Amino acid sequence: MAKLFLSQHDRRVLELCVKYKICKEVDAAKLPLHHGAIVLPCADGDQMIRLFMRILDILTKGGNPRPHWPALNGGGAILLGGGQDLPKKYRRWGDVLFENVVDSVRAKDIETVLNLGHAPCFMAYKILNWPIERVIDCLFRGKTRIRKSIHGSNGHVTGHLHVDWGQHDELYYMDRNLWISMRSQIIAQAQQKN
Ligand SMILES: [Zn+2]
Repeated sequence: MAKLFLSQHDRRVLELCVKYKICKEVDAAKLPLHHGAIVLPCADGDQMIRLFMRILDILTKGGNPRPHWPALNGGGAILLGGGQDLPKKYRRWGDVLFENVVDSVRAKDIETVLNLGHAPCFMAYKILNWPIERVIDCLFRGKTRIRKSIHGSNGHVTGHLHVDWGQHDELYYMDRNLWISMRSQIIAQAQQKN
């Protein structure tokens, strides 16, 4: 399959997320990264190298370039947060990924989990036919699922979105509260322009 490009709708939604600061710059200094991080990207080979370099940069700034990196198609956002919206096969993948995360937190003594979504993602575009707002919703649902599972440890879970804008790419920290408060407005605005 050829490399994907952002849909017009997703581009508009994401531009508004950047404008309203739902998509923020990742500040490594705010993350507890001294033991490294469990990172949950989509396996997408068109994005992997650029994403890896961005994650490596963040972890290096955090003092310990130790990425623990279980990668499946769809990544942490879709597989961990998709729940009943996913076909049974992908729910099973989500359970496998979830068990990997829980075991890794315990066994590797890594207390920080970076849950990841991305756009354009072939799982969202070609298999599930989801717009980006559904991926972002799942990103936060997956984040909550992990947080509950490592409750009692020093676990720290954050949600991130990698965007291939075409000419360049960015990795963002995603602000859950702002997304929840502005979601409807942003989608309405994006649809007006489409
Ligand atoms: Zn993907």
